[in-house]
Amino acid sequence: MLTLLKLLKDGRFHSGEALGAALGISRSAVWKQLQHLEAELNLPIHKVRGKGYQLASPLTFLSSEKIAANAAALPWPVHISDSIDSTNAEALRLIEAGCAAPFLVLSEQQTAGRGRRGRKWVSPFAQNVYYSLVLRIEGGLRQLEGLSLVVGLAVMNALHESGVQGAALKWPNDILVGHKKIAGILLELVGDPADICHVVLGIGINVNMQKANEVDRQWTSVQLETGSAMDRNQLVAGLGLQLQSYLDRHKRSGFVALQEEWEKNHLWHGREVSLIAGVNHINGVVLGVDHQGALRLSVDGVEKIYSGGELSLRLRDDS
Ligand code: ATP
Repeated sequence: MLTLLKLLKDGRFHSGEALGAALGISRSAVWKQLQHLEAELNLPIHKVRGKGYQLASPLTFLSSEKIAANAAALPWPVHISDSIDSTNAEALRLIEAGCAAPFLVLSEQQTAGRGRRGRKWVSPFAQNVYYSLVLRIEGGLRQLEGLSLVVGLAVMNALHESGVQGAALKWPNDILVGHKKIAGILLELVGDPADICHVVLGIGINVNMQKANEVDRQWTSVQLETGSAMDRNQLVAGLGLQLQSYLDRHKRSGFVALQEEWEKNHLWHGREVSLIAGVNHINGVVLGVDHQGALRLSVDGVEKIYSGGELSLRLRDDS
């Protein structure tokens, strides 16, 4: 089915006969595969009598050559799949199999993309970026402090470079444009954080997605914000360069060196929020983050510090 899609990716018309000849199958088998493509990958295909079949919009696939052409200096090899359960899960399997870090896992599609606390990350085929970068961390808990916030800064800057000027941060690890989520981050760690461990920096960015009924919250994408489709290879390259630079600063100087920059870009700085911790809701005003990336809230006039992967922020007026 993907071979057929690769024949159609230019967005031009292809006759059923030519497609069948290229694939060595009958015209009716082509027709069946096209129906599967539309249904399973949610890709609209135009059919015009006398002309053939055309993808409603052209597709560009992920390519390690194109990524390298835009970011030659990046030091990590890239593993690209057509479809995978989750790029984080694949990264963890590769660590287990002894693959040397750093390395990057990308996929055109995730069938079980993950968010925090077992939530699902909606990951349609060839529209977005599903990105898991694996780092090896040696003997430095400090290198993990504030790491997911640092990744957020890199993602936000890559989005600014792609024309999404309104992209900003929401503690701890979301990238929003106004109220709409454009990217999410999920860090997963294996090994001993106080000795040698591997950390998977999982990033999902909505790039050319225009419809996604399964997403249960407000969302947006690069294309919806800028009005034009973007080559995902360019975004992957730009993100890699941003990550390289932010991770390097973080490694040399710790989160403290990036704390102020993070706070400046926090969408809800100074806002009244509810912090959701399981069944508890803590109301307060956002003061900022501390030197480890923990949230500083003023609760009844007293400064309190919160951290941990189970916490979610909501604005008070829509909590
Ligand atoms: P919050 O902190 O607001 O509670 P979260 O950090 O727990 O969010 P994530 O784990 O980052 O959320 O992402 C999972 C959630 O994101 C899903 O429950 C869904 O609401 C939303 N979501 C899923 N797929 C997408 C997508 N492609 N684009 C935007 N939002 C999505």
